[in-house]
Amino acid sequence: MSDGTTTPGRKRIFSGMQPSGEAHLGNYLGALKRWVDMQDEYDCIWCIVDDHAITSGLAPKELPGNVLDLAVSFLAVGLDPERAIIFVQSDVHEHTELAWLLNAVTPKGDLERMTQYKEKAQRFESVPAGILNYPILQAADILIYKADAVPVGEDQRQHLELTRDIARKFNAAYGHTFPEPEALIGDAGKILGLDGDAKMSKSVGNTVRILAEPDEIWERVRTAVTDPQRVRRTDPGRPEMCNVHSLHKFFADEATVADVAAQCRAATRGCVDCKKILADNIATTFAPFRERAAHFRAHPDEVRRTLDEGAQKARAIAAETMAEVRRKMGLRWRDGLG
Ligand code: SF4
Repeated sequence: MSDGTTTPGRKRIFSGMQPSGEAHLGNYLGALKRWVDMQDEYDCIWCIVDDHAITSGLAPKELPGNVLDLAVSFLAVGLDPERAIIFVQSDVHEHTELAWLLNAVTPKGDLERMTQYKEKAQRFESVPAGILNYPILQAADILIYKADAVPVGEDQRQHLELTRDIARKFNAAYGHTFPEPEALIGDAGKILGLDGDAKMSKSVGNTVRILAEPDEIWERVRTAVTDPQRVRRTDPGRPEMCNVHSLHKFFADEATVADVAAQCRAATRGCVDCKKILADNIATTFAPFRERAAHFRAHPDEVRRTLDEGAQKARAIAAETMAEVRRKMGLRWRDGLG
């Protein structure tokens, strides 16, 4: 990204992550690892979506610290402000303005059909409108940058389809404005938690912090659920039924993964030793992240400056889109009077 915004011939992609503090293993495998690689191929816009976080009921005093911690994680894993725009959503007010305007073309029934809405709504006696309207803000996040594509997990595919529908409806009503962004589905699949049955999440407590020290990584990996049929060390295991084996695939070469599977089936290696190999490999992968995070934690001004500069670049693109949208929707009324 030569000028920090647009490179001719390159696709622009957008993705965001909620500020729940320091990133964890699931964030890394499901998104960040991929985002780092994508910076070589696309014009990337990475956003810390704090406006979305207000629907999760987080205490206001926790939010600023969580934003900074996630920003440190972004930079520590290798998201690079020289090659991507990295910023905080609430610094670019055009996101929420566009979200309001997109309400005009979004059928309520489409929002009520969203699987995540149905799941989340069950947790409330009186469902806040933000839980229903959340996907409109997501659509605005993407469309405001006229992103060509969005890296998403399978669980976000439905929301991206809705974004495409909203773009189509807006274009039909007000003239062509937005591209319909395509989904770039990753091959990581669903990253199960260390408990083996829930999606990895900090709130469930079934994951590992990406900046954890090796001892903590081992303490967490040690608890990972394995093949339930392998009760004794002498029982042959089924690696295809074991989440530890799935995680090995992210941190070891093919030969090592094949060896893990073979020793498991032959019962020549116990689960504790198998997990130790995994924990060591995770610790080795995360070591440079810890080192870089220590630097950024010692220099928070550097992080703030990066986010400020990112917001400035994002705002320049967003402001251009909003000028076009307002004009097409008749919201520049003084100009319309002639
Ligand atoms: Fe899982 Fe490894 Fe134990 Fe096999 S040996 S069941 S792959 S932890």
